[in-house]
Amino acid sequence: MTQIGTDINQAKRLLEKGEVVGIPTETVYGLAANALDTNAVVKIFAVKNRPSFDPLIVHTDSLEKAADFVQDIPELAQRLANQFWPGPLTLLLPKRPLIPDLVTSGLDTVAVRVPNHPLTLELLRSLAFPLAAPSANPFGYISPTTAQHVADQLGDQVPYILDGGACQVGIESTIIGFSAEGPVIYRLGGMALETLESIVGPLTVRSHSTSNPKAPGMLSSHYAPRKPFLVQPIEKALDQYAPNRIGVLAFQAPIASIPTENQRVLSPTGDLAEATTQLFASMRALDKLDIDVIIAELLPDQGLGRAVNDRLRRAAVK
Ligand code: AMP
Ligand code: MG
Repeated sequence: MTQIGTDINQAKRLLEKGEVVGIPTETVYGLAANALDTNAVVKIFAVKNRPSFDPLIVHTDSLEKAADFVQDIPELAQRLANQFWPGPLTLLLPKRPLIPDLVTSGLDTVAVRVPNHPLTLELLRSLAFPLAAPSANPFGYISPTTAQHVADQLGDQVPYILDGGACQVGIESTIIGFSAEGPVIYRLGGMALETLESIVGPLTVRSHSTSNPKAPGMLSSHYAPRKPFLVQPIEKALDQYAPNRIGVLAFQAPIASIPTENQRVLSPTGDLAEATTQLFASMRALDKLDIDVIIAELLPDQGLGRAVNDRLRRAAVK
């Protein structure tokens, strides 16, 4: 059985023994292990049932420490790290040999981030190694945004979950890489594209890469509830899916003809950051209801709305 608590020393002891621990970040909860210890990292893949071709993000507490794990930090990457770390931005950088191949799925780049959460930053400062941590959910399912979400699904396999409250951002980090042709976004995420572009200039987005293990970025089907999940204008879908019992994931306003208890509204005021924070918990709540199908509507395709829409579309892929 797992234990949920706020004891950083207990988390530290377990990690030093090569165990996995659930950790809070501002994006989603992570399933962490010593990134420099292949035997510990193997446990992450086993607990999540994650295919070994899906690489992990390495978490540390400063750019100075990150420099120990990578060959080189291009000037642009340094600028972004200085500006946005700690924060929901992951940098892809050429790895040094001390990062095990299992962490990067054999790629010669490693994904590095400094997460913005006080408990996890304190934990990282106390450790002599960085933490490899993917989202703490079974592979392919909705990412966890509370300690209880982690316990609900992985509780019997994770000895300790550090409880840092509900995640403030609520979706995964934005991933940026640095090719010869310029910076490329490999995953839309918790740092809005527009915010990055205000520093970097226009960015190429290549986040809809495939399940090709050589291609960085995410698999096309991900974040998926167990129930059938459809992304459509809701009013139109109602006729089509009646008489099924329908659950609704709405952006601003509930649907009059559907019982309120079968609906989740992401942000009544239309605030994209609030909607993002609520997204995964709302999907989980709907997935638990006694309904046949979940219908979700897209958010405005701007700022964090773009990243949320990316999650919704992937959740809808069979
Ligand atoms: P998760 O932490 O569960 O969101 O998963 C981490 C994601 O980061 C992976 O699914 C990849 O999309 C991405 N990633 C990690 N390392 C690399 C890398 N070296 N190159 C490209 N993408 C990466
Ligand atoms: Mg994940």
